[in-house]
Amino acid sequence: MKDTAKHQGLRNQLAAVLEAKGITDKKVLKAIKQIPRHLFIDSSFEAHAYQDKAFPIVADQTISQPYTVAFQSQTLEVKPGDKVLEIGTGSGYQTAVLLELGAELYSIERQRELFKKTSLFLPKLGYRAKKLIFGDGYKGLPEQAPFDKIIVTAGAPFVPKPLLSQLKVGGKLLIPVGDTTQIMTLFIRKSPKEFEKHELGDFAFVPMLEKKN
Ligand code: SAH
Repeated sequence: MKDTAKHQGLRNQLAAVLEAKGITDKKVLKAIKQIPRHLFIDSSFEAHAYQDKAFPIVADQTISQPYTVAFQSQTLEVKPGDKVLEIGTGSGYQTAVLLELGAELYSIERQRELFKKTSLFLPKLGYRAKKLIFGDGYKGLPEQAPFDKIIVTAGAPFVPKPLLSQLKVGGKLLIPVGDTTQIMTLFIRKSPKEFEKHELGDFAFVPMLEKKN
């Protein structure tokens, strides 16, 4: 697990690329410059780690494109101490960004192999979530609700009701909704019964699947 000056240079370039694409949040850009993304993917792809591209990881899943991670992180406006639920831990890269932003983080992954791998890996880099959970994100995490922010990093065919109901008033749910491509959708809970909805453009994610595996 080596992180060199060359990797740091590539990370600085990646942050500049993301800034040019419209990422303005300095804390998000700082997190991108700090997190060794090459350690989150198979070492045979190391040369590609700092391109703005999604990549295959174990269990037919992907590590999201850096722009997508930065966009979701910026849109959620995570503040230190925010209680955050992430659905789709995957490689743990988005998890690391949220932890750099100061989130008190709970993250759910449905693929056992990935859950195990990432649970061992993140603490090695010093990233400590409140809890990593092997489970089905469609159900949210009722025992820890309500949350300030909920982020979904897989394409959801519909918006799971439990996720909306586990938001604090004033809280935000950011979820890509759709089958083959998704519309990034932000819900803000205005009152116990009212949600404001914003559609923020097209993205492509692997599907959010029901039940754990
Ligand atoms: N943020 C991750 C994205 C991984 S891809 C990263 O950048 O590495 C999406 C992830 O969501 C996959 O790991 C997939 O297994 C997981 N996933 C899909 N449906 C899920 C569900 N119902 N509950 C929890 N995780 C789910």
